[in-house]
Amino acid sequence: MDRVGSSHSQRVSGEVHVIIGPMFAGKTTCLLRRIMFEGNNGRNIALIKSSKDTRYATDSVVTHDGVKFPCWASSDLMSFRQKLGEDAYEKLDVIGIDEAQFFEDLYDFCCEAADQDGKTVIVAGLDGDYLRRSFGSVLDIIPLADTITKLTARCEVCGKRAFFTFRKTEETKTELIGGADLYMPVCRQHYVNGQTVVEAARTVLESRKLHHQTDSSSQVEAAVSAL
Ligand SMILES: [Zn+2]
Repeated sequence: MDRVGSSHSQRVSGEVHVIIGPMFAGKTTCLLRRIMFEGNNGRNIALIKSSKDTRYATDSVVTHDGVKFPCWASSDLMSFRQKLGEDAYEKLDVIGIDEAQFFEDLYDFCCEAADQDGKTVIVAGLDGDYLRRSFGSVLDIIPLADTITKLTARCEVCGKRAFFTFRKTEETKTELIGGADLYMPVCRQHYVNGQTVVEAARTVLESRKLHHQTDSSSQVEAAVSAL
């Protein structure tokens, strides 16, 4: 007896691939390379990124070599199908998701797209935040994944492989969107050293604040750059 319903017998099986790593590790570049590879093989592709990140053009992603790639900027994933239209969604083979840590409905979307709809979903996002805690739902989809790729950057202090994202300012909210002005990739040693410096600087600044107001963030940055 055929285990697969006849209406689904022609449908290709879905896949989930996850690309993680710290900031500046080339996650978006890796995602675009995979998406373009699929596109060049004649598959229908779409790219979704978070509308929270407005550092770049919201309707396109630009690679380092200047290739402009159209994409959907959205605050959630589950509305994508409706926004795109049922016919266009049906024809899609591959869906890329960038900045995946910002999507709260990542798990449900990946389940539906890969399990029910037979899509290949390629997800890129931060696995950890600046305190190396799980960021958003990215780690939740690891059990759904066919493959997981953890990319590394170069430590900005010593040039060794960097696994972590270090925040250069005192700001403590988890979602603080920025680039090299706020963050740098670091190896384990310089992550630990940097945290020590930031904490020491914060203690000093807090004691000084009792006497007068100071521009605390620039002093912390100075302390960090003196590592
Ligand atoms: Zn280092």
